[in-house]
Amino acid sequence: MSITIKNSNSILDAKWFGNQPEATIETVSIDSRSLQNSEQTLFFALVGPNNDAHHYIKDLIATGVQNFVVTRIPEDCENQANFLVVENTLVALQQFAAYYRSLFHFPIIGLTGSNGKTIVKEWLNFLLSPDYNVIRSPKSYNSQVGVPLSVIAINEKHNLGIFEAGISTVAEMDKLEKIIKPTLGVLTNIGSSHDEGFADLEQKIQQKMLLFQDAEVLIYQKSSQVENYISAKTKAFSWSFKDENADVFVSKKEITNQETTLFYQYKGNSYQLKIPFIDKASVENAISSLMVLLHLDYETSVIQSRMEMLFPVEMRLEVKNGINNCSIIDDSYSSDFQSLKIALDVLESQNQFEKKTVILSDIFQSGFPNEQLYAKVAQLIVSNKINRVIGIGETISEFKDQFSNCITFKTTADFISNFEKLDFSNESILIKGARSFQFEEIVALLEEKTHETVLEINLNAISYNLNFFKSKLKPKVKIMVMVKAFGYGNGGLEIAKLLEHHKVDYLGVAFADEGISLKNGGIKLPIMVLNPENTSFSAIIQYGLEPEIYSIKGLHAFLKIAKQKNLSHFPIHIKLDTGMHRLGFEENTVDELIATLKGNSTVKIQSILSHMATSDDPKHYDFALSQIQLFDRLSSKIINELEINPIRHILNTSGISNFPDTQFDMVRLGIGLYGVSNDENEQKYLENVGTLKSIISQIRTIPAGDSVGYGRRFMAEKSTKVATIPIGYADGIARAWGNGVGFVLINEQKASILGSVCMDMLMVDVSEIDCLEGDDVIVFGESPTVSYMAKKLNTIPYEVLTSISQRVKRVFYR
Ligand SMILES: *Cc1c(COP(=O)(O)O)cnc(C)c1O
Repeated sequence: MSITIKNSNSILDAKWFGNQPEATIETVSIDSRSLQNSEQTLFFALVGPNNDAHHYIKDLIATGVQNFVVTRIPEDCENQANFLVVENTLVALQQFAAYYRSLFHFPIIGLTGSNGKTIVKEWLNFLLSPDYNVIRSPKSYNSQVGVPLSVIAINEKHNLGIFEAGISTVAEMDKLEKIIKPTLGVLTNIGSSHDEGFADLEQKIQQKMLLFQDAEVLIYQKSSQVENYISAKTKAFSWSFKDENADVFVSKKEITNQETTLFYQYKGNSYQLKIPFIDKASVENAISSLMVLLHLDYETSVIQSRMEMLFPVEMRLEVKNGINNCSIIDDSYSSDFQSLKIALDVLESQNQFEKKTVILSDIFQSGFPNEQLYAKVAQLIVSNKINRVIGIGETISEFKDQFSNCITFKTTADFISNFEKLDFSNESILIKGARSFQFEEIVALLEEKTHETVLEINLNAISYNLNFFKSKLKPKVKIMVMVKAFGYGNGGLEIAKLLEHHKVDYLGVAFADEGISLKNGGIKLPIMVLNPENTSFSAIIQYGLEPEIYSIKGLHAFLKIAKQKNLSHFPIHIKLDTGMHRLGFEENTVDELIATLKGNSTVKIQSILSHMATSDDPKHYDFALSQIQLFDRLSSKIINELEINPIRHILNTSGISNFPDTQFDMVRLGIGLYGVSNDENEQKYLENVGTLKSIISQIRTIPAGDSVGYGRRFMAEKSTKVATIPIGYADGIARAWGNGVGFVLINEQKASILGSVCMDMLMVDVSEIDCLEGDDVIVFGESPTVSYMAKKLNTIPYEVLTSISQRVKRVFYR
């Protein structure tokens, strides 16, 4: 980011008080609790109905924050920091974002509509990220605050943005438009939700269309109502199920099993496309996504292969395992008619149990009078063959008689106090309620409790990091990704599948067994085995793996087996030792290597590689260069004398960062993919991949003088609230992390470890933390980071990551 305070001052047209005009801003924050606030944060003190962030400024200054946008300088804070005084801090945040947006000139996709924005955004991100470095709004950050924060997250590595804008009343879109400034617009489904903020449908459409007033192209479902509001400079790109004049005319849908085949016409040709959904909303969202790919001139085969892999976006509708063998669909955040329809669709497509219950709150935002609304809801319930309705709320209680098998409660608390009397078993349960009803409490009752420690892997972050490193490569340079040691502890097969989707060129594993399990899992990418033992050569050949050959002895052994099997041109990789002194042909064996392979057609040298010992350390820059030079010389010699044309590669992650001019033909990405960099500056550009999570098993308060854990290594000096977490050194948490060195995060606060880490458990100090048994605990992730842990433990992030034992379940999500 690197904007100075002086700069910010003129962008915001503010009054500046302070003495460090040259202080630079690297991040923007509105959250006083964020652990990422720092000296280089510009903190916008927003004022809400229940909360005024000006109250936290003093504390923030104490933690080191130095730059604030405020409406007034709080008492006893004068002269302690830079203050930019403005009239309205939210407006200032939006101005700042709009200015920041203007610094970037790549395509930005702007999405709005009543439904489907978040899903289409997530899908487009998935579809386009193999080719672009995408920045998108997180979750559904589409509000007056969410949009500026999303846009401020752009950095110079991105080359495509996808942002969604949500409005609930007039005069909101104009502001969001100035911040997003989309070049390509996508209007998703315009349903009946959020109607109460608009006079009528017409006004709603008109307001939403303001987002596209400056767009070059607009994608929408053809409708004359929409077309009235397309500005003259915007090119319309429409689709339709009915109107043959649309640019894309979807003439037929064929539904089989869990798939829909779409037949469509585009530019005079007919096409077919299969998508893995059958409900109407998903089909429409998929078509919106298809339109973007068509606009970007994607090839039909690419469109097909990527769209086949679309997945349900669990932003709202999460499917969970419930008690008594129930299945729960958690939609506890919204209740409008449109989204009820979608949720019932999902319930239907789950199709797990014949018995179905819907727990439903009062419905808001429908635009219909109540009589009509609940009659329609009842119809919907009947047509979806719902066996039982549990209504919660004053209004739905009034209309109880509309439903055939219905019990109602006035409030969520009423329901909860009667919970024991209700029977829930072997059925699908849709839990659907407006936010204000706090149905998450009902979800918590019905959800199966899995007291498990899990390592959550964010697959999107992996894609993001991959694209970050790809953006550093020169054209034509290939990429091998190291997935050894179970993908650095993150999970081998799932990550390999994702990498295959992203079309990396090679995978690298340490041992043949790792490669075999990937091949058994269906991975088709070529896989290099770094350390093949002679005994595994047969299996390597059988499974089509490619061995790294690093010695004359190994070469002869492999050639012998290869000859016996009558192989020809079997791909091998030649490793040269240029200074690491681990594996590889040394300089004085290269002649013999050449002599052995001259005229030999059993194997083919697919690549020549070497590995650097110090690519991460500027202290050893000269040594690193000498390795690269020796590699260049020896590999050139082999290439010239054998007259071959192999792939040459030497750079690992930190090599990619520090030696951009010696990429040769390929690089080998490892730790960077998993979100860790040796370089603090680069670290900022990477997304966290793994979050190690657990829960609180038990909480107790001990008096001063008592001790905690083995050896009484923690003695309480005062009354102390202690929480026990079911994770220990057998799960890979170093014992050295105990005794006050390390901490975990509970409800976003640090809880330091008391006494020694046990085999399966550890205890933490929660005296100052508002928490309950069962609450989530973060062992590492955004904070503490793996790098931070490694530093404190006197080791490297590689060891922390790969130590997490296999008994910790890996859960993958997007
Ligand atoms: C592990 C490994 C890499 C990747 O190293 P990172 O530092 O994780 O990027 C590359 N090449 C070889 C030979 C390796 O063993």
